[in-house]
Amino acid sequence: MNSNPAYNSAITAVKHPLPWQSELARGIRDAGELCRHLTLPEGIFSDIDLKNPFPIRVPLGFVSRMRPGDPDDPLLRQVLPRICEEEQVIGFSTDPVGDMAALKRPGLLHKYRGRALVMTTGACAIHCRYCFRRHFPYQDETPHGDDWSSLLKLVREDGSIREIILSGGDPLMVPDARLSTLVSDLLAIDHVARIRFHTRLPIVLPERIDQNFMAWFSLLGRKAVVVVHCNHPNEIDTEVEAALERLGRTGSILMNQAVLLRGVNDRTEILAALSERLFELGVLPYYLHQLDRVRGAAHFEVPRDEARALYRELHASLPGYLVPRLVEEIPGEPGKTLISLW
Ligand SMILES: *Cc1c(COP(=O)(O)O)cnc(C)c1O
Ligand code: SF4
Repeated sequence: MNSNPAYNSAITAVKHPLPWQSELARGIRDAGELCRHLTLPEGIFSDIDLKNPFPIRVPLGFVSRMRPGDPDDPLLRQVLPRICEEEQVIGFSTDPVGDMAALKRPGLLHKYRGRALVMTTGACAIHCRYCFRRHFPYQDETPHGDDWSSLLKLVREDGSIREIILSGGDPLMVPDARLSTLVSDLLAIDHVARIRFHTRLPIVLPERIDQNFMAWFSLLGRKAVVVVHCNHPNEIDTEVEAALERLGRTGSILMNQAVLLRGVNDRTEILAALSERLFELGVLPYYLHQLDRVRGAAHFEVPRDEARALYRELHASLPGYLVPRLVEEIPGEPGKTLISLW
């Protein structure tokens, strides 16, 4: 037996992967397999892009919430690579929000006052076709080795940073031992008041919110803010419900961000149902994002006038606190830009 506890726990982790890691490993990574699993009509195969450099990835739990046999299922649409992604559409680029220009160090994006975003990892449990970071050079830009200490140094030296946003990829893809150390190192800095987690894992891989995670996370209370990412009420099943309830019991504030997506949630009733459903689980709506114009995602775009009309209806049908802010990201602006109702 090695006397180094970190070594021993690493070995145990390899021999006995945690249930969430096994669940992650079981995820579907082949479009054909997904179509057969869902018994989709043969015709769909001619529409699938098997060689897309941003490959399909989707956990089985998320697949189980899709309607078998329905090629228009709103969850399926978010993950299935289609031939139309290869079309080059004017205005759609590989870095639509100017992230490359805002990189201070590998892994640190400081665009907005008081908040810095740390890209903890490039990995995600699911690959969302509309992702604005789908072309991001994660290999070069996520922190490796010494980058972590230089990143901490940078945060320590900038007293204006009150909040650290852990993003990625998905920060909850990072194993608990490393993630909890990073969080406590950050919270040990006097001017850092809060850590915000931008994560889709509680929705797409609810097994991640397990006892190991809760053991350290529940100590953070109000110092943690969790912003999940759920676009459609069908994404929530009993497992997700239970994971959100576990998170909510820690006292941290839970919010949701969604992306307005053609053929997924571009109807008032769907967005209203999403807000209502999330509220039952203690999650308040935060942002509804107008699609970032990333190459390959043009078919998801809801034109701005239509987005506004839809948003006016949403505003007219829900209590104010259940209406997310409709925003877009314009490179160079000091924050997300609110899209006005009128
Ligand atoms: C969106 C974003 C934030 C967070 O903005 P909020 O409006 O506070 O949610 C911070 N940094 C970067 C780089 C972002 O893209
Ligand atoms: S989970 Fe978020 S970061 Fe990951 S692919 Fe989906 S939208 Fe992109």
